[in-house]
This record gives sequence, structure tokens and C-alpha cells, in this order.
Amino acid sequence: MTTYDPQNIFAKILRGEIPNDTVYEDDHVLAFRDISPQAPVHILVIPRGAYISIDDFGANASAAEIKGFYEAVSKIVAQEGLTKNGFRCIANTGSDGGQEVPHFHQHILGGAPVGPMVVKKG
Ligand code: 5GP
Repeated sequence: MTTYDPQNIFAKILRGEIPNDTVYEDDHVLAFRDISPQAPVHILVIPRGAYISIDDFGANASAAEIKGFYEAVSKIVAQEGLTKNGFRCIANTGSDGGQEVPHFHQHILGGAPVGPMVVKKG
């Protein structure tokens, strides 16, 4: 398994080395607006722990971290007014998944219809 890189950009954001537009934070997560939004609301939710991907998080995070993460997602979508019309959560993973930042993050996209789930190739 790949080793967690503590120099990844989200680790730097967690350490306060790079500014972010925080929308929610607690003991388990930090959530902030994506720097390049793909929808009217585009938030990234990241655990404070050093997990590379969703499968790393699911396999190695504590029950409290996992519960805290998804409780935070529920709070954020309510706070952002997304529960009425819905939203999409995406966790790009690895090279085939198009993951750019190797710290687990869940995208929350909403505020308007998000469009097709994937664009088929070929
Ligand atoms: P991935 O492709 O890894 O699923 O998504 C990474 C996301 O992080 C992208 O949507 C990108 O716009 C966002 N991102 C990259 N660097 C920064 C940054 O410094 N600040 C914020 N707020 N978002 C970033």
C-alpha cells in the first residue's frame, strides 16, 4: 500500500499552512469550498486523520472517525440547504478514479442539477 504523503495539499490545509474557505469543522473533519467549483455548491469534506483514500479510511479509521465523518456530511448538506433538491457525493480514488490529492476527501456537489454521473469514453 502507498504511504501517506504528509506534504499533500490537504495535509497542509489541515495544518493551517494554506488558507481555505471553511464551511464546517469539528474534531473529526474539516470541510471547505473547492478552489475550482464544478457546481454552485462544491464542498470538500476531509477527515483530520491521515488517510489516503476512501478504502484506506473505511479499513483503518476508528468507528468514531467514520461515524463523525458521515455525521458531518449530514450536517453540512443541511447547513448548505441541499437536502430538499439533493446533491451528489464523489470520492475519486486512485489513478483510474482521477484522484488528484492523496488525502481522502468527499466532494459534495449541489445547488443545481449536477448532470450525468459519468461521461462515457469512446
Ligand atoms: P480529486 O481530483 O483529488 O478528487 O479532487 C481534488 C480537488 O481539490 C479538486 O476539485 C481541486 O479543485 C481541489 N483543490 C486542489 N487544490 C486545492 C486547494 O488548494 N484549495 C481548495 N479549496 N481546493 C483545492
